[in-house]
Amino acid sequence: MPVIFLETGYHFPALIEYRDRLVNEWRLNLVNAMPKQTLAEHESQFGLLHIVQPTECCNLRKVEPLMRSLEPYSWWFTGLRREQSPTRAGLKKVEDHKLPTGKMLKKVSILADWDWARVEAYANEHGIPKLSLYDLGYTSIGCEPCTKIPEAGADPRSGRWGGKKLECGIHTFSEKAS
Ligand code: SF4
Repeated sequence: MPVIFLETGYHFPALIEYRDRLVNEWRLNLVNAMPKQTLAEHESQFGLLHIVQPTECCNLRKVEPLMRSLEPYSWWFTGLRREQSPTRAGLKKVEDHKLPTGKMLKKVSILADWDWARVEAYANEHGIPKLSLYDLGYTSIGCEPCTKIPEAGADPRSGRWGGKKLECGIHTFSEKAS
């Protein structure tokens, strides 16, 4: 089963180490979804786009590469959970989605009704290693320049993009059909 990773070029080194550890230990079929431009080309053309236009940066380095990567498939499994954000509160476990090309696929969010305590309990029970950044206080982890530790008691995703937005667009680019 292919496991798609969005290789934006802006990840925390600890996250890349964690990815590579799981790939090696679990023998995952890793597929790195690469943006059309290298990070050097991107910054040469746009500068620090993630600061001035984060939505466009996410489009170029996450959304477009994922759309391309999903095109061959009919099923898309994600780790989305309803408690993560108000934007995910209405998430169904199985939804029909239409990609911009018109291609239909089933999006499956098997953990939709899990809370964080259940995730942690499952990981402990099954010996699944935790990304070290959680121990530092991060509660939702994306690209390093757009991820901060949230205030105590705040929305877990409020540390993303300085609280200016809650979604990068990879879960909103496709049209939900059911
Ligand atoms: S999370 Fe930030 S750095 Fe990563 S693609 Fe989006 S705007 Fe760019």
